[in-house]
Formats: sequence, structure tokens, C-alpha cells
Amino acid sequence: MTDLTHLTIAAALDGLAAKKFSARELADAHLAKMASLKKLNAYITETPDVARAQADASDKRRAAGGKLGALDGIPLGIKDLFCTEGVQTTAGSHILEGFKPTYESTVTKNLFDAGAVMLGKLNLDEFAMGSSNKTSYYGNVINPWKRQGDDTDLVPGGSSGGSSAAVAARIAMAATGTDTGGSIRQPAALTGTVGIKPTYGRCSRWGIVAFASSLDQAGPIARSVEDCAIMLGAMAGHDPKDSTSVEMAVPDFRKALTGNIKGLRVGIPKEYRVDGMSQEISDLWAKGAEWLKAQGAEIKEISLPHTKYALPTYYIIAPAEASSNLARYDGVRFGLRVPGNSLDEMYELTRAAGFGKEVKRRILIGTYVLSAGYYDAYYLQAQKVRALILKDFTDAFKDVDVILTPSTPSAAFGFHENEGDPVQMYLQDVFTVTVNLAGLPGISVPAGLDAKGLPLGLQLIGRAFDEETLLRSAQALEGAANFTALPAGV
Ligand code: GLN
Repeated sequence: MTDLTHLTIAAALDGLAAKKFSARELADAHLAKMASLKKLNAYITETPDVARAQADASDKRRAAGGKLGALDGIPLGIKDLFCTEGVQTTAGSHILEGFKPTYESTVTKNLFDAGAVMLGKLNLDEFAMGSSNKTSYYGNVINPWKRQGDDTDLVPGGSSGGSSAAVAARIAMAATGTDTGGSIRQPAALTGTVGIKPTYGRCSRWGIVAFASSLDQAGPIARSVEDCAIMLGAMAGHDPKDSTSVEMAVPDFRKALTGNIKGLRVGIPKEYRVDGMSQEISDLWAKGAEWLKAQGAEIKEISLPHTKYALPTYYIIAPAEASSNLARYDGVRFGLRVPGNSLDEMYELTRAAGFGKEVKRRILIGTYVLSAGYYDAYYLQAQKVRALILKDFTDAFKDVDVILTPSTPSAAFGFHENEGDPVQMYLQDVFTVTVNLAGLPGISVPAGLDAKGLPLGLQLIGRAFDEETLLRSAQALEGAANFTALPAGV
């Protein structure tokens, strides 16, 4: 039998339907590989018992000839930011260690209702703050990719670094991620996987540990555009429990993959040609445009003039919302409690011990920009700039159907590179945060290898709620790039 862990979801669904293997065999193959790749530290909690029970239930449904879900029997990893009933949910933080939610997030419930099998909870940057997975209380996640002839451990991106590493290393067929400023697309780009952040409002945020509520969205990381389409179809949908989730039918995303992009208008934003961009990234970007053109698309230069304000705007709005969201971790309701002589002291000791350095930095920045006297100068101003960034996109989408950019300014880096200067790390998201600020859908597709043999991604950005065009264009890019490289030892 071929190695089941290398199948795409689409191929595994065919194999299950043809009874070539069972859901239990699929789950067991992944669980065995997880045991052999523990050094990657991709999972915080493994749930083999849940996986086997769900796989057996799927096999029973299939044998009985009953109705099957869109992901029946497919083994997935779940980012440990999604609350899972009865299963520890940490958000990568010490403060939530031991927290077992009494409820299921809507996205994971949708996935389980579609027949998915949970292999475990995936590591992430603490409270999804980061681009490298270095801020997790549960340790670094190691990217399965290495530079040629160099054994240095590299970051898998972040914050969904456990998700990207697991999918690249074949210890999850696909995974859930969340993306507040790039946390699905950047890790996907650094691991040769595909990641889509849908339009804000497409997936319910209910039961996802909140970081910055006006930016957070859930989405999948998988090994093909088609698999992302299957995953997103199962994850998305209106949820009365999240007032920002839209009441809109979920299209059949897989059906949108017609292979035809004739007449598609693709915008190339000139402001994304940032200072110091490497020749490799700029060449790949040009190649991406050529690939789409060769399939009948029309390439146009466009302008998104407020791009340069996106990172500073994001780093006011995201910490502001985070400081408010994280106020709830007080030692009373969830996880960790460090006793003190008074209630206030208990709060202080719990928060001092429970949050890591980056989370504390964000809470301080957020509290500062929301404080009386600074609110107008920072937060309100950032909200105004955010409106201008959205307007740039609205204007651009009058002339184009999708926008093509690089996903990240660099390939995966070592754990000690980019160290000491948080701003250097914040620059990882220079191409992705604009999309969150505007609430639009964006996807990263593996497009090539750099000179050291590391994956690089290209990003496509779409109109709000037009994931269909986005996925169709992404598949055209994927076909032309024909990315087949694998990390060593996988
Ligand atoms: N890297 C960005 C940050 O640190 C984005 C994180 C995210 O999308 N969750 O805030």
C-alpha cells in the first residue's frame, strides 16, 4: 500500500469511497508518523483516542451506507486556539494550561459534523501573536524544511506554525489555522503548503480564543488548493453565535475550480515592491504573473497608495483589541491561578506568571493606545487609516478581479535570526496585514524554491466573499508552479 500520509484529502476521499483503506487505517498511519516526528513539536496535545473513535465511527457510517460528510474519515490537526470540548485548549499560553472547554468552537463542530477526525491540538505562537512560533509556552515548532547542506533548525512561520509544520511533514492531512495579520498565509509560505484566509465573516469566530476580534478569521492549511476548497466549505457558514458571521450561503468551492481563468484581470500593486526585496522574490512574483498570463489572464499594474501605513496601523489596532480581549485571564475563570494576599495581588501574580514576553508587550502597547489622552491620537487615527486601506482595495477591484503579490519578504529563517528586534519580526507580515485590515480573502500558494532549497509562496488577494475566483486563480498558479518538492525525511 502507498504511504497514506502523503495523500491529498481529495485522493483520500476517493480511496475511502473505493474501500482501498479504512478511516481507521488512515488515522493509524498518521498517529504512527506523529510518534516518529515528535522532534518537530507540532502538537501540544495528541488525541489518539478521539482520533480512533471518530475514525471507527466514520467507517461504521460508510459500511452502513449512510449519509457521509464532506470530510468523512479525514484526519486533521486543530490549531490549539480552537476550543475543543473536554480537550485541553491552551492558545500556546501558560495561563490556559489545563483549560478544558465545556463547549466546542463552531468551526471544529462544523468539521466534526462533516466527519473529520481530530489527531490533536497544534502548537502556535502564544495567543497567536508572532510569525515564528517562538513565543509558544510549549516550545518552538521546527520547520521540517532545512537549507541545503545546512542543519540549522528553521522556523515554520507563525502563528499557525504547528499547523503548517504538521501539514508539510505529513502528520496531518490538513489543519485549521487562524489569521489576524498573516498567521495562515505566512506559515503556509514558509513550509510549501497552501493556506487561505477567507473573508472576514465567512467563518464563525465563536469558540476561537480571541486575539484581535475585528481581524481574526479561521481558515485551512492544506497541501493543495483543492483540499483548501474542501476544508473551507466544511468550516464556513453563518453562525448566530457570532454576530460578525454573515448570513450567506456557502458556495461549493470545489466546483469553482474550473481551470479556466481566461479574461481574469490580475493586479500587480506597485507599492508591494518594498525596499530591500530580494531578487529571488521579485523574480518569482514576475514569474507568477507570466504563469497567469499564459493561461489567458490580463496583467495590470495597480496602486494601493496607503500600503505603507498598514503595518503601523495593524500594530495599533491588533494590540488594542488584544489588551481588551486578554483582560479576561484573571486567574478566576480559566487555567492558571497564582495565589496572592489580596484579589488584586492574585490577578497580578497570575498575569505576570501566565503571559509571556511578547503577549505582555502587546498588552502594554494596547493599553497605552487606548488610554485617555492617546485614544484619539493612536486608536482613532488608526481606524481612519484602516478605512483608507480598504478604500484602496475597493478602488483597485473596479479594474481587476484578483491581486498578485509575494506572500512573505523572505523564506524560513533560523530561530536566532531576526532576534532581538521585534520590528524585524513584525515586517514578516508586510504583504499580509493589509488583507486583514480590509477584511478580504487571501491565499498563499507554494510557487518555487529559493537558492538554498526553501519554499517561497505567492499570495492572491480577492474581493470580499469572492473566494471562488480566488481559489480558481490560485489553482491556476498552483498548476503552473507545479511545486512537488518535499522536505527531507518526510
Ligand atoms: N504575525 C502577526 C502578529 O504577530 C500576525 C499574527 C496572526 O495573524 N495571528 O500579530
